[in-house]
Amino acid sequence: MAAKTVPFTKEQIQDIIKRYPTPFHIYDEQAIRENARKLTAAFSWVPGFKEYFAVKANPNPYLLAILREEGFGADCSSLPELILAERTGITGENVMFTSNNTPAEEYQKAMEMGAIINLDDITHIPFLEKCAGIPELICFRYNPGPLKKGNTIIGKPEEAKYGLTRPQLFDAYRIMKEKGVKRFGLHTMVASNELDPNYFVETARILFELVRDISQEIGIRFEFVNIGGGIGIPYRPEQEAVDLDVVSQGIRKLYNEIIIANGLDPLKIVMENGRMITGPYGYLVTTAIHRKEIYKNYIGVDACMANLMRPGMYGAYHHITVLGKEDWPLDHVYDVVGSLCENNDKFAIDRKLPLIEEGDILVIHDTGAHGHAMGFNYNGKLRSAELLLRPDGSVIQIRRRETIDDYFATLDFSCLPTVSVR
Ligand SMILES: *Cc1c(COP(=O)(O)O)cnc(C)c1O
Repeated sequence: MAAKTVPFTKEQIQDIIKRYPTPFHIYDEQAIRENARKLTAAFSWVPGFKEYFAVKANPNPYLLAILREEGFGADCSSLPELILAERTGITGENVMFTSNNTPAEEYQKAMEMGAIINLDDITHIPFLEKCAGIPELICFRYNPGPLKKGNTIIGKPEEAKYGLTRPQLFDAYRIMKEKGVKRFGLHTMVASNELDPNYFVETARILFELVRDISQEIGIRFEFVNIGGGIGIPYRPEQEAVDLDVVSQGIRKLYNEIIIANGLDPLKIVMENGRMITGPYGYLVTTAIHRKEIYKNYIGVDACMANLMRPGMYGAYHHITVLGKEDWPLDHVYDVVGSLCENNDKFAIDRKLPLIEEGDILVIHDTGAHGHAMGFNYNGKLRSAELLLRPDGSVIQIRRRETIDDYFATLDFSCLPTVSVR
């Protein structure tokens, strides 16, 4: 059981709301730092372990700066993400560029930054060569196909658009060797939000065996494997966090058996987690504004799916705490809904909660990854602010909320035919 608590009191939040009205996401810096250190410590036996935070999970420069201070790099997959990393001081081989269906300008930027290029397809070799040249270090993304089961977020690997097949990988490294490349990496990423530690051990096994087979057949030396991200988090109170030491020790055993035994060490092991780094340490704070009783009972809040898409998109569970009513009996059943004109705009369905009244403050848990980041403007909804709870208890705004002017910023009304107002 992972108890679902919040790192602030109702009084603190009421104080914050005076400056920053709801809804907003608030992130707990201290907890993010402690978590980052825990991950690094779990893999301290690995020569050159590094986590490249998956920027897409939470593309806020203040969080990236915190993670940079903790020794993390950035895993980027678009031009804006590359620029964001650069502007946060994460450059060179501290950037992993794991993209797919990549436009030329993105490869050009990644090369200019000296990022590690992780190619998603064999045809991207001539594409990259033509638009940006051949880098000194190259990585390829492996799609294990039926070798590996996927999950609902990424789908079955053999139906996923990512990566190269095994025979393509051999050809790809051979081509790169012929082009004079001397530094190599190998990557895979086939599941997201996975809670079984053995899943990651088995992913490492697949990569280690491939490193062995490709090294032996082609005569190249691998510098690193990237076992991807995808470590899940306990969204539900009854779930357990992934035991990182179990993952680490399982991988260590295979490292000895496959890598060291075949003289392939030192081989760096790197990861590109997003969710487990910041996910549990973000909270969407929202105010109940309506109660509606028809065939079911609804609580309408001032946040909507534009602030957190996961429940509507995946049917994902996000725990909800009603501030100040933590000890009240859960004797009401509600759908907690936003204001989008889409019936899947629900943060919770048939959730047992304490009695909720207009004005109550609801905290939706685990929104630190794939929360604000997945926001959108459909239905004219504006994205919320993001706040940072500092280790000293102070709160700073790290992204303001969108305004109506932001919403209209890409429109030019001046070219409209004249409107006559009667
Ligand atoms: C989304 C993604 C990640 C991060 O996934 P999490 O589930 O947030 O850990 C890492 N690498 C790639 C290539 C991704 O697409």
